[in-house]
Amino acid sequence: MSRCLSFSLIILLIVACESSSSKKSIDEDSELTSIAFERSKGDSTSTYQEVILFYKQLSDMDERVSIEEIYETDSGEPLHLVTFTPTELVENPLKLMINNGIHPGESDGIDATMLLFKDLYKNDWTLPEGVQLFTIPVYNVGGALNRNSNSRTNQNGPAAYGFRGNARNYDLNRDFIKSDTKNSKSFFSIFHQVQPDVFVDTHVSNGADYQYTLTHLFTQYNKLGGPLGKHLENKFIPSVEENLLSKGWPITPYVNVFNESPEKGFTQFNDSPRYSSGYTSLWNTLGLMIETHMLKPYPKRVEGTFEMLKTLIDVSSQQKGEIQKTRRASFNMFSDAEHYPLNFKVDSSTYKQMNFLGYKLENMTSEITGLPRIKFNRDQTYERPTQYYNTFSASDSVRIAKGYIIPQQWTNVIELLKWNNISYERFAEDTVMQVEQYKIEGFKTRSSAYEGHYLHSNTKVSAKTLDKTVRQGDVFVEVDQPGMRYIIETLEPIAVDSFFNWNFFDSILQQKEGFSPYVFEDLALEILKNDDALKLRFEEKKKKDTDFANNWYAQLDWIHKQSKYYEYAHLTYPIVRVLN
Ligand SMILES: [Zn+2]
Repeated sequence: MSRCLSFSLIILLIVACESSSSKKSIDEDSELTSIAFERSKGDSTSTYQEVILFYKQLSDMDERVSIEEIYETDSGEPLHLVTFTPTELVENPLKLMINNGIHPGESDGIDATMLLFKDLYKNDWTLPEGVQLFTIPVYNVGGALNRNSNSRTNQNGPAAYGFRGNARNYDLNRDFIKSDTKNSKSFFSIFHQVQPDVFVDTHVSNGADYQYTLTHLFTQYNKLGGPLGKHLENKFIPSVEENLLSKGWPITPYVNVFNESPEKGFTQFNDSPRYSSGYTSLWNTLGLMIETHMLKPYPKRVEGTFEMLKTLIDVSSQQKGEIQKTRRASFNMFSDAEHYPLNFKVDSSTYKQMNFLGYKLENMTSEITGLPRIKFNRDQTYERPTQYYNTFSASDSVRIAKGYIIPQQWTNVIELLKWNNISYERFAEDTVMQVEQYKIEGFKTRSSAYEGHYLHSNTKVSAKTLDKTVRQGDVFVEVDQPGMRYIIETLEPIAVDSFFNWNFFDSILQQKEGFSPYVFEDLALEILKNDDALKLRFEEKKKKDTDFANNWYAQLDWIHKQSKYYEYAHLTYPIVRVLN
């Protein structure tokens, strides 16, 4: 097989906004515009324009701070990346990246990160040694521009905030694989440029009421897998929890219940690759979402997020060596493996006992519906052992292929590989190759729209080996590369967030040609006469399946589908696997 052209780099459109001539030394104490959160004593959050102005000012005043515009967002505005680089940066620093405002109504992290950068600027707090800090100040720019005071119906402040949907009403925290938005493409550029060791996405949570202001939603450690997964569960999370508790900020895992009491126990959230931390774990980045509790006063939530960010930076610095070592090892965890695990599900037979600080749940009758309702009584607190189900295991697996061949016409898939820094090559000439091809045997489809899609699930495939003519210009993606997990999770149809499940290949689900029954009758008779084995299977099916036996169209269709007249493309997954 000969291959040519190599495309290995994503498109980076970077415009530096720094004006180095105006940059001053940090000792000259220029006046930084006050932050809306501080000015309003915790009542307000900054507008998008104020946030960007703040970081631009900071980059003008502090040579350790830089701000870049990276590509663009659906709103037409660019996405910004802000970097804090200590004056004496060590070689191979631990890179920690904070993503804010993916849901702009959950603005806690936007404010907390500004306060953190202000403290660093004023030298009120020093970045621990060996750490370089990055932030996307507001990821959902379109949502932040759509400012209102009502869309977070039950949230306790701030006074005004952005909307969850982006400029085209997508939830960006479901967009990391299907990538309908320019925002996600900008994110890919930033993520692969920075290659963070630790990734933090800031949110506000709403499922039940309890005493905690802070909850953490770390990427699921069994799914992250390898030495990094073990490090996360056994060392990183306990250190973060202990550190915060010692500062008077008890924290619990994300309370994954809705409209019921957490005291019954709860299951860890499964952050599949469509979510930020699920996406970053495909590159063995230790990722998490901070989820503050929406009923706690806004100043307390921002303060909690601020303390949590500092704690994450401290613990990352303390565990820098181990995090970087286990990350490196994780990139090789499948080098000798035959199978790749997919579709992680909770193991309900095992749980972790933890102490939970809750409010008593009361059952009463609704004055509106006359039916039962619940209420959390904040005057009645409890501390009680609670079962936390956080062990997951793979419910599926695939044999790891050497590579995938993507016919060149599937440009949407190839574009996304490029954005995600996946290396591939193109065939220099037409080539016949032995490949494995999937037939889609079954799947379910949502009955209502979900993030601009009618997502498939429970996808089943069968595989067969065949010789295929690959065309000049078709793409070969070798699996053995740093983005291996991304390649498998997107290209294997059975994976929960595969491109297949996100409707990229729905055109193969519809049969394009059929038959005219009044003519095909005679041809079908001929087909059966000439194929005894087929005739036998046909007769047996009629015997066993009464519906089939009573449906003349189903019978003709069945014969048509067994014949040479049935189109090959129907339900044939166009990306094929090369096994060796
Ligand atoms: Zn959120």
